[in-house]
Amino acid sequence: RTPLTVVGGFIETMLDMPDIDPTTREQHLQLMHEQTGRMQRLVEDLLALSRLENGQQMKEDEVNIPNMMQILRTEAEGLSQGRHTISLEGVAPLRLIGNHDELHSAFGNLVSNAIRYTPQGGAIRLIWEERNGQPVFAVRDTGIGVAPEHIPRLTERFYRVDRGRSRSTGGTGLGLAIVKHVLQRHQARLEVQSRLGEGSEFAVFFPAERALH
Ligand code: ADP
Repeated sequence: RTPLTVVGGFIETMLDMPDIDPTTREQHLQLMHEQTGRMQRLVEDLLALSRLENGQQMKEDEVNIPNMMQILRTEAEGLSQGRHTISLEGVAPLRLIGNHDELHSAFGNLVSNAIRYTPQGGAIRLIWEERNGQPVFAVRDTGIGVAPEHIPRLTERFYRVDRGRSRSTGGTGLGLAIVKHVLQRHQARLEVQSRLGEGSEFAVFFPAERALH
């Protein structure tokens, strides 16, 4: 069932019952509004994924990650709406050779996940640092965590540990699949460390050669 099934159903009802009472009509419109939002996110993510999979040559530039960290923090605050403490940690003065928009999209997905899978009152840390000479972007949260058996499968399309939770927080099930593709194109790898009920760290390790000191 796609969101369109729901929207189509309501449209049919409204066509059949032109004199529907205002409260019901309002409820239907509200649900249709939610479902079109879901459909929009799904289409956008599918398009992003298909562009990445087409394997078009990626334009590489010097990307100012310290700048991007500030933007990611602002975006995180927008998503959190005051429900979490969001902080930047150890922002290394390092630029990265890569594609700005792809990196922004990948990092943004990790940030959005941390917020969506962390209950109110939790903390989210955004990190940009060097670990053993490698540039690392990481997001640490104090959220619900992921059981070890699920971790290897998280980047599969539409793989979700808890479908209901993913959906209710606006997930498409494609975020980490997009992340995986972007990282592949940057020869980077994703490392996930997590404890159920305690939190997670999603860390992206880039090759040392991509760093500009
Ligand atoms: P979704 O849209 O479902 O969030 P993703 O591809 O972004 O899709 O993530 C896949 C699954 O990985 C999620 O459904 C969720 O179960 C799990 N997940 C991702 N990030 C986190 C996180 N920070 N904490 C706990 N679980 C996570």
